[in-house]
Amino acid sequence: MKITEVHVYAVPLPVVNGPYTMANAEVYALDSTLVKLVTDSGVTGWGETCPLGATYQPHHALGARAALAQMANDLLGANPLLITLLHRQMNGLLNGHAYAKAAIDIAAHDIAGKHYGVRVCDLLGGAVTDKVPSYYATGVGAPDDIARIAVEKKQQGFLRLQIKVGGCPVELDVETVRKVREATGPEIRLAVDANRGWTTRDVLQFTRECSDIPVILEQPCNTIEEIAVIRSQCQHAIYLDESADSINTVMQSAARGLCDGFGMKVTRIGGLAPFKTFRELCEARSLHHTCDDAWGGDIIAAACTHMGATVNPKLLEGVWVAAPYIENHYCPEGIVIEQGHIALPQAPGLGVVPDEAILPEPVLSVS
Ligand SMILES: [Mg+2]
Repeated sequence: MKITEVHVYAVPLPVVNGPYTMANAEVYALDSTLVKLVTDSGVTGWGETCPLGATYQPHHALGARAALAQMANDLLGANPLLITLLHRQMNGLLNGHAYAKAAIDIAAHDIAGKHYGVRVCDLLGGAVTDKVPSYYATGVGAPDDIARIAVEKKQQGFLRLQIKVGGCPVELDVETVRKVREATGPEIRLAVDANRGWTTRDVLQFTRECSDIPVILEQPCNTIEEIAVIRSQCQHAIYLDESADSINTVMQSAARGLCDGFGMKVTRIGGLAPFKTFRELCEARSLHHTCDDAWGGDIIAAACTHMGATVNPKLLEGVWVAAPYIENHYCPEGIVIEQGHIALPQAPGLGVVPDEAILPEPVLSVS
């Protein structure tokens, strides 16, 4: 099988009741990039990458599309069924830019699933469930407002909540987490995500003042080095998110005992094939992790759901998808959360297909 056409689309995804507020950013809309690969056998596949603005990570939408444009012509003729070789070819065409290569990787998995007549989760080793647990991430806000949202989400069936903190005095963060815990009770698992926004001083104050509340601290500081400095003084488990930007960093962090788990994005690690390696490394070291959409629409949400369904349930912290926060579903069978869970699509490949009638014209097409 050969890739005969590559099409790239820029798809705007407005945030419902925006902006979504984090320690370092306010997000009003997402600029997602979809990729459609067409093959000589007639099978097509879809991929997606959607950076969360331009400051969440060193990724941005125009960068994704420039990277795809850099590679597109040379991917014509490649066999999308041979996904390891496809990654080697992409790495030979462009250094880095894993988040752009992820869109090609996801589309290749979609094609392979359709070609073999199996779901993407089957290609990834097999699903352990047909319904993966999701979790809800609040924005940064007033403590009473966040506590109210937390109760709403508990009532909607979420078993895990992530509370965004940072970008404000840490005393306010302490008050927010305390109010959320009091409002939701001990049965809800809580993660506190500073998105790199705390200093080591802030972390030490938080962990001291909230030592009675069992929460996970997700990416509290900007760098791994800062986290290493305060790690032994923390009374809470620490997960890396933004800093865990490659398999190598994951291996190093696990080897140095810098964290107890990861928030992981399918696009940041470079797609489903590298995520499979990440999943195995985490299982080998009993490290917990999420399986997240880096925002984006139904395609990336489907990819995360398929991967999440294959993770050892003891280690899976949940599958975060952007569906509750954005206005557009471009796939008729859109990925949705019900009772805090996402149903695994059952059709071959990703199991969701964009309605091309509602997509804009491609910004790049090669054949
Ligand atoms: Mg995070």
